[in-house]
Parts: sequence; C-alpha cells; structure tokens
Amino acid sequence: MEIKQFFKTPSLAEISKYKNHREISENLIENLLNINPDEAIIIRKDLIPSKYPNAKKFKKHGIEIIIPRYESLEQAVKIKKTPVQLRERVFNKIKNKAYRGYSFKPFTGTDKRTRNVLLDDCLEGAKICAYTKQDIKFKPLINVKVYDDAGRVQKDGAEAIIKVPSRIKNQSNYEFKFSSIPVIDSPEKWGISYNIMTTHNCKDKLFNIRYNYLHDKENSRQFNFCAHEIAAYLAIIDYYWNNKKNIIPLQMNQFAIPTQYAVNFYNILCRNTLIQTSKDKNPRKLNKVEKEILLWGLVHKKGHDKTFFARDKIKNYDWGFKKAVL
Ligand SMILES: [Zn+2]
Repeated sequence: MEIKQFFKTPSLAEISKYKNHREISENLIENLLNINPDEAIIIRKDLIPSKYPNAKKFKKHGIEIIIPRYESLEQAVKIKKTPVQLRERVFNKIKNKAYRGYSFKPFTGTDKRTRNVLLDDCLEGAKICAYTKQDIKFKPLINVKVYDDAGRVQKDGAEAIIKVPSRIKNQSNYEFKFSSIPVIDSPEKWGISYNIMTTHNCKDKLFNIRYNYLHDKENSRQFNFCAHEIAAYLAIIDYYWNNKKNIIPLQMNQFAIPTQYAVNFYNILCRNTLIQTSKDKNPRKLNKVEKEILLWGLVHKKGHDKTFFARDKIKNYDWGFKKAVL
C-alpha cells in the first residue's frame, strides 16, 4: 500500500536528517509555531494523560468537547444557534487539557447515536478536498449525486450518493450514501443537521467502533465520522452553493472547517515534529491521537475563529510547508 504523492509526509528517517533539531517539553504550541522549515522538533513529553494506558484507550474514553445538546426541535428553533456558533462558544471555553475530539447529538428522528468528530479528520477531510482541486491531467474528483426532490426532504433532509478518492495509490474510490442533509430553509433544518449519517465504511471507521462504559448516559453505540465523510460533506456544501445557490448545507454544517493557519500548524505536526515519550526508546512521528491533542492545544491558545472558522475557500489553501504567522 503506497500513499499517493499529495498525501505523503516526510518519514521518520527524513525528518531526522533535517539540518537543525530542537527538543521541547513546554510551551509546545508556541514553539511549534515558531519552527523553521528545515528544523525538526522533538517533543519530550507524554501528551496522552497517564491515566490512559495507551492512545487507543484515550481515543475511546478521553475527555471530549460536548457541543450543547438540545432536547427538542422547539428548543433548537427558539435558540436559533447554527452549529458554527455553538462550536465557537464551546471551542473558546476549552481548558488547557488533552481532548479526544468533539461530539454532537441528534434530538429528532430515530437514530440518536452520538456523532463524534476529530479535528484531525477535519484537516484530513479538507486535504482530500484540496487533492481534488489540483491542476493535473487526470483530475481526481469527489462525485456528488443528490436526491432532494422527494416530499420528505423538508422533514428528513436530502440524500446523496458520493464517491470520494482514496489516499492510497491504485485503490478504488469509496462510494456511499449520505443522508439527512439539510437543504431547505425550514424549522426542521435545526434538527436535520444533527442526524447526518452515511453508509460508509473504511479501515479508520472499523477501528473506531466503540462501546461506552456501562454507566454512560448516552446510547452505547456511537457514530464516528472519518476524513472521507467530512470531505464528502464539504463537496456537498460546494455542490449546493455552486449549482443551486443554496447555502443551507454550509449554514448547518457540523464539521469544523480549518483555516489556512490551522493547516499550516497541521503541516508542522506532519512534516517537522517527532515525539519521544517516557515509553519510547527513540523519537517517532506523532500518532493521530497526539496530533488531535495538539490541535486542541492550538484552539486553546488561538481561539475558534483563527483556527476553525474558514473565511477563505479551502481549495485555495497552500498545503506545502509555510511558516505559520503568529
Ligand atoms: Zn473513511
């Protein structure tokens, strides 16, 4: 399995060969933002709290950011806060802690599983979108075919069949159904957007299947979105805006869209950063959970708008190395 060129990041051996090396154990975010392109940073610190024996356990049971829960459609319609307004409120109040992601929860319809989202997947999803916007001969594409003319759309949202390219060479596209897409400006849209789900399966999602501890209040089965689904939703937003001048899918979007600033930081994590925890004999690249923890660290330091409130078109982002500007 070879990763496509666009998604490749330097290997451990390549990062180890960078001209300058610096070890850090505090002020991680500021230090990472101040890096030079030819510099490798080695984090000498355990990022995953010691009460979790490993990254997998933290991913399942670590602290998550809870997007405020509604009890009824009436309540949501009355409060009238879009998902991005709710994210702004909670993202700006987070503490200097390790978080495993954020979650939102449906309050209408039958599938009330909690929906989990990782910032890491929001970045990877945006990257898959950027991949499809490249100016190359065999242009890869996220294919969107929508089904939105049935009478049920106002109540249940639209459906779409999506094809998303794989990040692996010579691997066929992922094809799946996306449902509960808010497309009509009706009171129901405030509930529909919380029910979004797909039929997609990939390796990332299979590893994610989890069951809550017995005493958790919310349903034991959870729905974990992956980068392919986030890329798909971003393509749905584009489709409705470009073809129908319909902004509702964007207005009710549940996925945090990274800014160029967040992309720059993410590139530093993928291209310049190694870690050596108390369990590691030698430095290694960051795992997904550690990147997630550092992305929340960036949100804590810089706030929601600078990191995950995208005002520019993500297709115009620069995914190469660029020094983040403090
Ligand atoms: Zn996937």
